[in-house]
Amino acid sequence: MNAFGKDHSMRRLHRQRWLLSGLLLAGLQATACSINPVSGLPEVTLISVEQEKKIGEEEAKKVEAQMGLLKDEQFLPYLDALGQRLAKESPRQDLTYRFHLADMAEPNAFALPGGYVYVTRGLLALVNSEDELAGVVGHEIGHVAARHTVQKISKQGPFAVVFGIASGITGMVSPLVGHIIGGVGDLTQGVLFSPYSRSQETEADRVGQDMAANAGWNPAALSVFLNTLGREVELMSKEPRKPSFFDSHPATPDRVTKTAAHARELTQASQAPISATNEAFLARLDGMVYGQRAANGVFEGRTFLHPDMNFFLEFPEKWNNDNTPERIVSAAPNKDAAVVVGAVAEGSDPLEGARQLENKAKIDVVSKTEKTTINQLPAAFTQIKANGDVTLHITWIAHGGLIYQVVGMAPTRNFEALQALFWSVAHSFRPLSASERTGVKEKRIRLVKAQAGESIEALAARTNSAWKKEQIAVVNNLAVGDQLKEGQLVKVAIAELYEPKKSR
Ligand SMILES: [Zn+2]
Repeated sequence: MNAFGKDHSMRRLHRQRWLLSGLLLAGLQATACSINPVSGLPEVTLISVEQEKKIGEEEAKKVEAQMGLLKDEQFLPYLDALGQRLAKESPRQDLTYRFHLADMAEPNAFALPGGYVYVTRGLLALVNSEDELAGVVGHEIGHVAARHTVQKISKQGPFAVVFGIASGITGMVSPLVGHIIGGVGDLTQGVLFSPYSRSQETEADRVGQDMAANAGWNPAALSVFLNTLGREVELMSKEPRKPSFFDSHPATPDRVTKTAAHARELTQASQAPISATNEAFLARLDGMVYGQRAANGVFEGRTFLHPDMNFFLEFPEKWNNDNTPERIVSAAPNKDAAVVVGAVAEGSDPLEGARQLENKAKIDVVSKTEKTTINQLPAAFTQIKANGDVTLHITWIAHGGLIYQVVGMAPTRNFEALQALFWSVAHSFRPLSASERTGVKEKRIRLVKAQAGESIEALAARTNSAWKKEQIAVVNNLAVGDQLKEGQLVKVAIAELYEPKKSR
């Protein structure tokens, strides 16, 4: 959870709402008819431009809280300059476009209603030119301009909300569970990652390419990027990976062909790129973290180490783990049980966690909570039966000025069988040893120069790349058997030691 590494983690906890506000209001408004800025055709929409801006603003806050944004001082101003130059060419000018770099390891790009456009750091690893990046950002502006982001909401309606982990376990929404783990009913995932239709994708490609060409970039580069993305998806499908992986914009061979054909119909305006050379563009990617970012804490198998917050946790074997800014979630393979970990309060009294829950849920918690210690840290424990027949095993641990909450949750009928497992997760919480803390590594993208006639395999070995030759070939848009040229710049990933930031 990135929030562990950021000062405003506490503020975020107060900001959590488990019922969507904007959407619900929007859904109750009367239907309106307007002209689509891209198609020029009248369309029925439930949402006015003012409402769209408001929804975008609220959802953008959730993206920041749930995914985290990178305030990269080098890359962000560049991304914004590129985005604004494209946005000037957008067929839709009644919005302010904003461009962000999302702290997400998976390659993705997405847009919110109201003009909020995001690319993830995972996507940047796959980009090989400024033209390609312009194609991707243009595509997302295209979704906003053609009001696809709004149409997605209109279709989804206020009650088709994805309730996430809680519903996976309970099959129904329990307000108490919501109070305890927070964020139940979060809309963001559903809106962001539900797929666009094929025709919407085609339209966004076309609009994006038109904008890129008018702004001076090569519109054929989108086709090149989509081809790389398709290769990456194929490579990754051989490994266990999140199912949401670029589902929202599938990179089909059909899109590669269509975008290549559309590019041939366009004329690229003569305007110099922002990066003077392609080498200058690639240099902007140097040092970008690939995969897990140590500042957010890292999973090594089923153990979790947070070097900045200085703690260790061990989750059950073969469970599926996810680390987000607000919480760590570990779910049983059959989704019938989960452990959710987060920081819920400040201070050194573990009962503070119980008090916070008592206030939020308006139920008696403190009197039923026992004090204990876990690995010499002050701790408290309680067990609660929530409505919806879910039993919760809750442990609070005080460490480094924060109260951590470890919640094991399971249907009451299965709870007994899982109790020992929940206990062992909570009791694995401890500070890191000095060597664990300074031994955490993260992978960073590094640009290296090839030697004349060098193979990708040889370059990987010489530079100690964490990527194998197949991955290097995909991300650099090369073939595995290619012979490299003298001085050719190649992206590799190097595992580097992370220096912990805070001493808790
Ligand atoms: Zn798309």
